[in-house]
Amino acid sequence: MNLIDIGVNLAHDSFDADRDAVMQRAAAAGVHQMIVTGASVEGSRKAIELARAHPGRLFATAGVHPHHAADLTEAALAELKDLAREREVVAAGECGLDYFRDFSPRDLQRRAFGWQLEVAASTGKPVFLHQRDAHDDFLAILREHMAGLAGGVAHCFTAGPKERDAYLELGLHIGITGWICDERRGMHLREVVQGIPADRILLETDAPYLLPRDLKPAPKSRRNEPHLLPHIAAAVAAARNESTETLARTATENTRRLFRLI
Ligand SMILES: [Zn+2]
Repeated sequence: MNLIDIGVNLAHDSFDADRDAVMQRAAAAGVHQMIVTGASVEGSRKAIELARAHPGRLFATAGVHPHHAADLTEAALAELKDLAREREVVAAGECGLDYFRDFSPRDLQRRAFGWQLEVAASTGKPVFLHQRDAHDDFLAILREHMAGLAGGVAHCFTAGPKERDAYLELGLHIGITGWICDERRGMHLREVVQGIPADRILLETDAPYLLPRDLKPAPKSRRNEPHLLPHIAAAVAAARNESTETLARTATENTRRLFRLI
């Protein structure tokens, strides 16, 4: 199997001690390539450094997560624009709106989101999107910019059919994580993924977050890792009534096409 993890926070400090081992375990499980999420200016710079050290295996995104929207000053935005143009960067973001946690004031979240969609448009790269409990505002801002964008992915999709269909209609891809393995919160996703066309589905772990809850035996560490992507692929494939091999092949093709990977 050959899988690409489109969302792994490999620059996260929880991987500092054993990042190479994490990458080796991933490769041994068939996850040979990964897109390292940039969620702050500093984190994006680290993601680019990682991608530069592992050409063809790691790629980066450059963006500021809505949690950090208050940090995206005009000076930081200028830095982010430069980072987004780097060769290793295959998408602008992670950007979007998160009204669930509200770590940054909502008006600043909306401003940071609009700015980053402009960055995405100016680079011609797709956009890596995060949305939680903010669907209406998110959609309104996205619609204003969509014509200038080279596509994108609604990453870590956890919402329902209404949100799915709105994103599909905008031409977006949908990223599915191990949330689908969560028997308390993720069961609805088993139906949601049935309605995602084969050419729009992407797979991601969002590691170190979102450890799949149905691993047997349960691992000692709560840290999620990219080597668990085949486990997520199997859950998504079962829900879609297709083989894991078929889903892996289409998700990998979709990833290469959307992010123009080499
Ligand atoms: Zn996210």
